[in-house]
Amino acid sequence: MKKTSRKARRSNTAKSPFDQLSEIANNAWWTWQPHVAPLFRTLNPKAFDASNQNPIVALRNCTAANRRKLLSNADFVNSAQRAHRKYRKYMRAKTWYQESHKQRSRQQVAYFCMEYALHESLPLYAGGLGVLAGDHLKSASDLGLPLVAVGIYWKRGYGRQLINCNGQQVTRPQSIKPEDTPFTEVRISARRPWRLRLPMGKDRVTIRAWCVNVGRVPLYLLDTDLPANKPSHRKLTHSLYSGDRDTRIRQEILLGIGGWQLLRAMKIPVGTCHLNEGHAAFLSLERIAERMKNNDESFATAHRHVRNASVFTTHTPVPAGNEEFDPALVDQYFAAYQRKLGLTHEQFHNLARVKPDNANERFGMTPLALRTSRYANGVAKLHGQIARKMWSGMFPKKKFATVPIGHVTNGIHLKTWLHPAMEELLGECLGANWSADQDRKTLWKKASRIPDERLWLLHGQFRSELIDFCRMRIQKQMRRDPVRGIKLSDTNSILDPNALTIGFARRFATYKRATLIFTDPIRLAKILNSKRMPVQLIFAGKAHPADTEGQALVAEVVRFSRMPRFRNRIVFLEDYDMNVARHMVAGVDVWLNNPQRPREASGTSGMKPAIHGGLNFSILDGWWPEGFNGKNGWQIGSGKDHRDTEIDNRRDAKSLYKTMEKEIVPLYFKRSKDGLPSDWIAQMKNAIQSIPPNFNSHRQVKEYWKRYYLPALRNNQQ
Ligand SMILES: *Cc1c(COP(=O)(O)O)cnc(C)c1O
Repeated sequence: MKKTSRKARRSNTAKSPFDQLSEIANNAWWTWQPHVAPLFRTLNPKAFDASNQNPIVALRNCTAANRRKLLSNADFVNSAQRAHRKYRKYMRAKTWYQESHKQRSRQQVAYFCMEYALHESLPLYAGGLGVLAGDHLKSASDLGLPLVAVGIYWKRGYGRQLINCNGQQVTRPQSIKPEDTPFTEVRISARRPWRLRLPMGKDRVTIRAWCVNVGRVPLYLLDTDLPANKPSHRKLTHSLYSGDRDTRIRQEILLGIGGWQLLRAMKIPVGTCHLNEGHAAFLSLERIAERMKNNDESFATAHRHVRNASVFTTHTPVPAGNEEFDPALVDQYFAAYQRKLGLTHEQFHNLARVKPDNANERFGMTPLALRTSRYANGVAKLHGQIARKMWSGMFPKKKFATVPIGHVTNGIHLKTWLHPAMEELLGECLGANWSADQDRKTLWKKASRIPDERLWLLHGQFRSELIDFCRMRIQKQMRRDPVRGIKLSDTNSILDPNALTIGFARRFATYKRATLIFTDPIRLAKILNSKRMPVQLIFAGKAHPADTEGQALVAEVVRFSRMPRFRNRIVFLEDYDMNVARHMVAGVDVWLNNPQRPREASGTSGMKPAIHGGLNFSILDGWWPEGFNGKNGWQIGSGKDHRDTEIDNRRDAKSLYKTMEKEIVPLYFKRSKDGLPSDWIAQMKNAIQSIPPNFNSHRQVKEYWKRYYLPALRNNQQ
């Protein structure tokens, strides 16, 4: 069985530039090629921008007149050809995996995740988990790992965030039409698309699947929005993280069990499964049941085998973030499984309890994943410790330190997040092939060669671009939702290209404390409105549509941003996504992060400004205790764990203001004889030298490979 290759394997000769670009647009590879997006844009700038930079929409809407014009433009034709050559070369190139492994695995790693962030034009993600998964696939492709991925085609995405005239968040569904995506439907033959009737309790739900290549890595996306299904079943794959508990358990059955059956139908030789977060943990039950049936194994034998070949990553130290289901709800869907697995009701539920036989416990997806995965990890060193403590009840014979949960600290896919001009500068200083060596520390020492003035001017350019972007976005918002007392023309001049610019962007979950900096508005106003040393804040972030507290925080920040004394100094950008993120991380001087410690498992957003010389100003939580070296940013607070919300807020806010007033602001505005802020630039360079070599996703993926995937693949062969 194979999927159609409607776009693949055509000869390179005599391809028109439009065919070349079309081939590129149909592989997510282009999303980490900063020089390709401008080419797509020239096809139809309006359509490209309106579709959140969707190259397929731009191609379709390129008029005949524009095609003729572009064909006679040698620059365009040559650039398309160059991009196409580069793409073909990438797909053929010898990779790290091929070069460093004499014996290559025929077996694949199957990676399961609820969300993937590849690009803003494919909004199949809500936040950090999706960004991490997207970056993981991109690095797996760059490194050439034998990996396939499974997720869900969320046809209405996670939801667009609008801010209305009252400063309230409004969530609008997105619409991701198949014809606007690079997805191809998975087929059994040219004429027969793949279908599966997946049992869900008393129902059967028909599913289909799509595939998109992320460089060399195929990502399969499950979809129930088919006419054969009744409306409630069609809706299962509409919106990410919405719906009631019954919807959610069905979505997780779809991902874990439907996903596994798809890989089976495609005859993909899977050697190990990576559960990225507990959402896919039903997968393990399906694999155990399959082995019992096919190999005539006992539950214990099948369980041991599956466990030895499974990897699980937990992402949240917040108890509420760990998925649980009402046992009665689980019984509605898994009664047949209890029989298939030969387990009693209690034995079955014990798989998903911290303490066996504790009938008060709900059905926990994290305990289930831990019980069925030999390799388990948190996503930063500190988070590993927290996770060991949090789940130590499952391992009563072990001391905290020996609980079998390790850590692999998250990283980012550098090429995805780098501003094109910064990438060029790195190429000049580190060598054209820097990306292949990105996890080598000595390579980044060469960043000391970057001339101070050049770095400062370039960063100034990024800051100006960010400010232009903010003005454009705010005007767009206010044209749609005029705000009383604020004239549209006033927004032409909001923000100051010479002010110290601080960014704060993340999901508006309460523990992240988006409003901490407003604890003392008078003190804040004094800092921001200084004539000689002006400071400004740029916020962005969505609250979950059902999280009223989070939405209140959004409204609070917007309210401050509209007060006369803050109006030119604080902006809230609506609809935080990868595009907004890219603008912000290139242009800010300081990245602010103030969660309640230790609730941030890792956080990756702060790694993105660092590659542009942005400095982190953060609570010592998540990745920051590993990243901070005293010269590449600042800490907030003293690294104490959260105890009492009121006391912590006061203590951390005080630390935040003091460090801003005494250290950050004066350092930024201190100029040397040559007119440059040399001490600040030294910190920028320190950030560029110290953070990317550790916090890139090549290092992360290699760690998963060496420590977990490889041993799990070996276990599977035995
Ligand atoms: C990087 C990124 C995130 C994750 O960042 P955190 O530090 O976990 O908040 C979330 N959303 C978007 C759009 C991002 O680019």
